[in-house]
Amino acid sequence: MTETRSTCPYCGVGCGVIIESQGDDITGVRGDPDHPANFGRLCTKGSTLHLTASSVVTRQTRLLYPMRREHRGEAPQRASWDSALDFASESFAKIIQEHGPDAVGFYISGQLLTEDYYVFNKLAKGLIGTNNIDSNSRLCMSSAVAGYKQTLGADAPPACYDDVKHAQCLFIVGSNTAYAHPILFRRIEDAKAANPALNIIYCDPRRTDTAEIADLYLPLQPGTDVMLFNGMLHIMLWEGWTDPAWIATHTHDFDALKATVRDCTPDLVAQTCGIKKEDLFAAAKLFATSGATLSLYCQGLNQSSSGTAKNAALINLHLATAQIGKPGAGPFSLTGQPNAMGGREVGGMANLLSAHRDLSNAEHRAEVAALWGVPSVPEKPGKTAVEMFQAVADGEIKALWIACTNPAQSMPDQALVRRALARAELVIVQEAFATTATCAWADLLLPATTWGEKTGTVTNSERCISRVRPAVAAPGETRHDWSIAAAFAQRLERLLPGRSPGALFPYSLTDPALGVESIWNEHRESTRGRDLDITGMSYALLEQAPRQWPLKEGETTGKARLYEDGIFPTLDGRARFVNTVYKPVAEPRESRYPFSLTTGRLRDQWHGMSRTGTLGRLFGHVAEPSVQMNAQDMARRLLKEGELVHVTSKRGSIIVPVQASPEVAVSQAFMAMHWGSEYLSGQSSIGQPLAGVNALTTSAYCPSSKQPELKHAAVKILKAELP
Ligand code: SF4
Repeated sequence: MTETRSTCPYCGVGCGVIIESQGDDITGVRGDPDHPANFGRLCTKGSTLHLTASSVVTRQTRLLYPMRREHRGEAPQRASWDSALDFASESFAKIIQEHGPDAVGFYISGQLLTEDYYVFNKLAKGLIGTNNIDSNSRLCMSSAVAGYKQTLGADAPPACYDDVKHAQCLFIVGSNTAYAHPILFRRIEDAKAANPALNIIYCDPRRTDTAEIADLYLPLQPGTDVMLFNGMLHIMLWEGWTDPAWIATHTHDFDALKATVRDCTPDLVAQTCGIKKEDLFAAAKLFATSGATLSLYCQGLNQSSSGTAKNAALINLHLATAQIGKPGAGPFSLTGQPNAMGGREVGGMANLLSAHRDLSNAEHRAEVAALWGVPSVPEKPGKTAVEMFQAVADGEIKALWIACTNPAQSMPDQALVRRALARAELVIVQEAFATTATCAWADLLLPATTWGEKTGTVTNSERCISRVRPAVAAPGETRHDWSIAAAFAQRLERLLPGRSPGALFPYSLTDPALGVESIWNEHRESTRGRDLDITGMSYALLEQAPRQWPLKEGETTGKARLYEDGIFPTLDGRARFVNTVYKPVAEPRESRYPFSLTTGRLRDQWHGMSRTGTLGRLFGHVAEPSVQMNAQDMARRLLKEGELVHVTSKRGSIIVPVQASPEVAVSQAFMAMHWGSEYLSGQSSIGQPLAGVNALTTSAYCPSSKQPELKHAAVKILKAELP
């Protein structure tokens, strides 16, 4: 038996694992006792990784060879890598020459490793000359990115997991930590057991399992977070719980915010948020007056048409009370995906560039062009996730390359997404699994390696970079994601005029270990002098143990906590308050659509279930999809437990069983995000089967972060009239 240290491919906690393998089979997995994220612990998903990888069942779900479809609707036929890459590069070159570089787009994934992300970003922005590259991280963390940048000056979570044990007050908001980040939740349980004086406040429309550990639960109405945070600041100011001296020394722009929150009276806030005034007061007091307050937050803030304002309003509270830059204190966004952070670091999104540079900044564009050795990086903003599918549906983008993600299930407003995929002239899907809904639209399928087979790095929620290592050989003809992108790029370089073949992608394709390390070193160099400088973080250093950034050349340890000196990465070193004004959800419930539908994760499933859906025991917790409602609402509508209902929004309708849940408040409903079209019935207006809950969700997005409001749609729920 061989043992290989690696990292769990599921959530942003980023637990270390030890993979046990025999030959080409992964036979076991256990927590890595030396990994700082988990110290040997694993949750249900992590501890069953070996059963969902390399088993006979899983191999049957894998895409093992390049496949090409001559005509849509026909079965794809096996192709050679050479013919597949020739077809891809010639098709892209033709479209680019006829319609310009912005006629193509790349939609990639927070499941990719940092090195994969780096090559895709360079391919789009450096070689082709388009910024049309975005990621499913847009659906996950882009509001957190915008919130950090607007307030603290850089996209850098300032706290670390260890802060949980130093906190005196934990403010958990918009995060079902017990399900979405289970091993971090174990730390919260440990901290509570060790320190009974630790106060835990939990804010969420649903009374989830996370609420069980809370001393104070605020069941706020969906989308009212900004009003809640502004109301807490109103009380803090009134009671003298802010820190005027710290504010004066370390921040700007407090006066405008003060004027805004003056109107957020306790009566108004209690009424808008649906919480008691005394609970609002208690939350403000605990947050402001505790020795150290740590906020943990996730999609409840991010997946919102006010996502950036929600993030900024929460960070405003930390700045107003100086709850930042000390042990146990600070705003701490939790990343949903295993490498959403790594993607942010290499700038693998439409508005970003390498090492936290901004596309909108001419100096940053020039720096990246010089690093890559290209004349320029295009100035025109790229299309973000929703914009990209809209542009494909409008015929503006003609070729779409999708890597390691399943937009035909995970994107909001599936009617739009499927209209786009049907309209595209060319859809290339680079995937490990042949079972995703998106594969059905592919003209070309490119088989990729996955966890247990890949090598590279990921960054978890606390800025800690870990190695991902292969335990078994790549099955079939699968190739690593970065090497597929690089092989395509090397062909495209020869077809596009004015490019220098071999110059931009000099990574070894014959020795993947060498190739991936040279990409890492190029990325490291791009961070020199930046806030996330990792010039000292060689693979050799990471061989010893994971490290947090920043970690400059000559250093061997990173920074657990940022801003302990009170200096922020802005021009003058001061943080900025953002004047956050409350706006309701994009689609409030109304008489025809009287329920607020929220979506979220289950404890034992991951995303579209490509991996977790292959293992029966992971359905032991929740066996089938349903819509959860409050028992009062069900009684009023004469609905019985398990009865089939139509759940309908302005965009689509699906049929699922209804289930009474004490977690769900009156006039609200909840559906898990994991199930797709094979489980749910319904037809869109274009005649394609719809894809689970995202047949219903809205593509309305935050104007700053462009993150869509997956957390709220107005729906009606009616007994299904079946033939
Ligand atoms: Fe994997 Fe997250 Fe579970 Fe850790 S908490 S084992 S990273 S799914």
